[in-house]
Amino acid sequence: MVAAKLLAQAAAKGGFQAQSFASYGALRRGGKVEGYVRISQESLLQRCKMYSADYLVVMDESLLNPSQGPEGLKKDGKILINTARPKDVLSGLGDYEVYWVDAYGIAREKGLVIPGGMPVINTALLGALAGILDEVAIEDLVDVIRDNTPKPEMNMECAMEGYSRVRSSKDSRETERALNGVSGAISAPRKRLPQYDTERMKHCNRCQVCYIFCPTLAITFDVDSLRFSVDGKLCNGCGICIKECPRKAISWEGEVR
Ligand code: SF4
Ligand code: SF4
Repeated sequence: MVAAKLLAQAAAKGGFQAQSFASYGALRRGGKVEGYVRISQESLLQRCKMYSADYLVVMDESLLNPSQGPEGLKKDGKILINTARPKDVLSGLGDYEVYWVDAYGIAREKGLVIPGGMPVINTALLGALAGILDEVAIEDLVDVIRDNTPKPEMNMECAMEGYSRVRSSKDSRETERALNGVSGAISAPRKRLPQYDTERMKHCNRCQVCYIFCPTLAITFDVDSLRFSVDGKLCNGCGICIKECPRKAISWEGEVR
């Protein structure tokens, strides 16, 4: 299964041990396929199917059985679902930490469709998964996608869009949790903005990764003063610039790195 293989390659690129394999249901086109990925800092000795996973990616909402709940996932596991109808689909999933992304919509927006019009969702979902997984960096995933997919530009764009949407939702939840922990009653967190740290910017190598990776074009670069700035109206708070800066020169407002 291509998505599982790409994910394992990205994890390996980041220095982890990784293994991927697939299990096929009915041997016909359109039959159910399960892909498995193990990622660890230790050697991977197990080769069997997983029955108690930390993460579950549901590539189409029709694969979820609301009356049974997700199969093969730990009680505190996380779920990522491809759906454009989160309100309908996510109710029934109890206490699981659930994320969603409209991978079909992203693929259509980016023009990543096969002849006949079927959107190709692997890379949008993988990008979204990289937004949840600590073990896979989006830049490693994008590198792997660039080298291993047809139409690499479109696939990279899909991955970045999936990543950005899920990061934005994850960061909002974490901020909300943190604020609720402090005050007990705050429900609408103020949007955080990234800031360029004056001291650390002395080590900035002008790679422009922050500028290039920003999915909303919120970052501008002034060539004369060699300064970057963030447009608070355009920034969606995804945190990609902070995560990607190789010199750790960007942080959230008021946060010291
Ligand atoms: S400025 Fe940074 S946090 Fe804001 S949208 Fe761009 S990459 Fe995301
Ligand atoms: S990503 Fe970091 S090092 Fe690169 S230009 Fe932006 S601030 Fe400078």
